[in-house]
Amino acid sequence: MKDDNCIFCKIANGVIPSKTVYEDENFRIILDLGPAAKGHALVLPKEHYANLFDLPEDVAAAAFVTAKKAAGMIYKNLGADGLNIVQNNGAAAGQTVPHFHIHIIPRYENDGQKIGWVPGNPSDEELSGTLSEILAKA
Ligand code: AMP
Ligand code: ZN
Repeated sequence: MKDDNCIFCKIANGVIPSKTVYEDENFRIILDLGPAAKGHALVLPKEHYANLFDLPEDVAAAAFVTAKKAAGMIYKNLGADGLNIVQNNGAAAGQTVPHFHIHIIPRYENDGQKIGWVPGNPSDEELSGTLSEILAKA
């Protein structure tokens, strides 16, 4: 299914042009217009899924395999020193475009970017409580 109001549906299906790194029947990989670093790319399924939770398992598997292939090409050909795979779900997690996508972000020594979090310091009891909550509702 495509969503007529979704910009990534339009880009993935070639209705809006993009800098395409890779394309097959199910995915298009494009250069991000606001890259965190040179070569930052996005894996877009051609079908519309808002986020990871809506993604069928076979599409999830194929998306990661496709990301792996492009990541290797980008990393090698741009001479990157590292690479982050990032995937945001929901505004609270930084998702701004509600069409599932995987970020491929090559990293360079001293590129000045920060992709990370502030580590917490839970007690063993708190961790056990978290584990119980997750497993009780699994
Ligand atoms: P997210 O915040 O995970 O939803 O990521 C959305 C990403 O899409 C951001 O990195 C934007 O820079 C990028 N983006 C938004 N619109 C376009 C576009 N038309 N072409 C390419 N990248 C885009
Ligand atoms: Zn879409």
